[in-house]
Amino acid sequence: MAGRNFLFVPGPTNIPDRILRSMMVASEDHRSPKFPELPRECFRGLKKLFKTEAGEVFIFPSSGTGAWESSLTNTLSPGDKVLAPRFGQFSHLWIDMMQRLGLDVQVLDVEWGEGAPLDQIEQALRADKAHAIKGVMIVHNETATGVTSDVAGVRRAMDAAAHPAMLYVDTVSSLGSLDFRFDEWRVDLAITGSQKGLMLPAGLGIVCASPRALLANRDATLRRVFFDFGDMQKANATGYFPYTPSLPLLYGLRESLGILFEEGLDNVFARHERLASGARAAVAAWNLSLCAKKPQWHSNTVSAIVVPTSFDAAKVIETAYRRYNLSLGAGLSKVAGKVFRIGHIGDLNELMLLGAIGGAEMAMADVGIPLRLGSGVAAAQAVWKQAVSTESRSSAVLHSVAA
Ligand code: PLP
Repeated sequence: MAGRNFLFVPGPTNIPDRILRSMMVASEDHRSPKFPELPRECFRGLKKLFKTEAGEVFIFPSSGTGAWESSLTNTLSPGDKVLAPRFGQFSHLWIDMMQRLGLDVQVLDVEWGEGAPLDQIEQALRADKAHAIKGVMIVHNETATGVTSDVAGVRRAMDAAAHPAMLYVDTVSSLGSLDFRFDEWRVDLAITGSQKGLMLPAGLGIVCASPRALLANRDATLRRVFFDFGDMQKANATGYFPYTPSLPLLYGLRESLGILFEEGLDNVFARHERLASGARAAVAAWNLSLCAKKPQWHSNTVSAIVVPTSFDAAKVIETAYRRYNLSLGAGLSKVAGKVFRIGHIGDLNELMLLGAIGGAEMAMADVGIPLRLGSGVAAAQAVWKQAVSTESRSSAVLHSVAA
């Protein structure tokens, strides 16, 4: 099919040309005297991205799932109790991993479309007088339902219960796109993957561990080999890795961090918010609703859109792909066939997203969902036009003050 595929799944995301070029490198010796400069820059940049001074970053050749496993096996022991809300496919899969690793998981089941239940977390922690719960596990942005949870609120709930559990946060579809504050929110383990906000191919599983998590590592007895923090720390201290790293991905990571810091993190977060507002306006114009039940949980990186009950969302996705070369995200597990997702994460702008909104609109009309062609596109345009005029008004005010 002529033209580029419009990739609007919520990861893997579009890779900027600058990153693609940076990864086109010949193989080189990962034990050369020069090699350590590259990982050291990546570690420095990742710490800035996680917003941490004291945290230590680990980069594993794996996907985000490996980073989950690493965070768990390095800090917990068989039978340890953990508290985990479940409100979507990724929180579900993380819980499944914890159970398979032999942890005792207290699951807080919440309706899909809601976020981490702060009151229930606080209550469960207050009830745990013996402080048996070692960790609270939160998926910051549930990619399956387009729900962002309030991590600062979870920290407040933990403090209100005066509970010493560690805080584990999955930032796979939030880091580099939504504000995340490792030190300020006193997160102990944050994990992410390379293929979303970092705009890279999949292949890096990244973990940020607090000094407390590193202390817990000394006593944790879950089995680990490939993902062992200790092996990584020993090698990283000299600028190397305990096994062969993926050189192209490290070059790409350095470039990606450079791109994010050049734009400025606050601008990156504001851009994601602006784009997401346009997508949400389109959904409202189509008379459809989001899977996210309340605005407080609206995700700025992915919108999961519920189709009317008599229609199959999978047909919308298939039509969009076959007829318009547009890749939309599928509904996963419980919401399969009920929702399709538009990822608005990573390297994108208003006109790119208009393409996805326009394509989704045509695919929905093709399968018979009643809507007015152009309504979603116009609604998004109106939001972004308004944002531009507000921006130019405020810069005019600044100029007149400066004059
Ligand atoms: N956590 C979240 C929130 C995700 O969206 C994903 C993947 O999409 C994962 C974890 C799993 O990451 P990976 O597919 O990189 O292993």
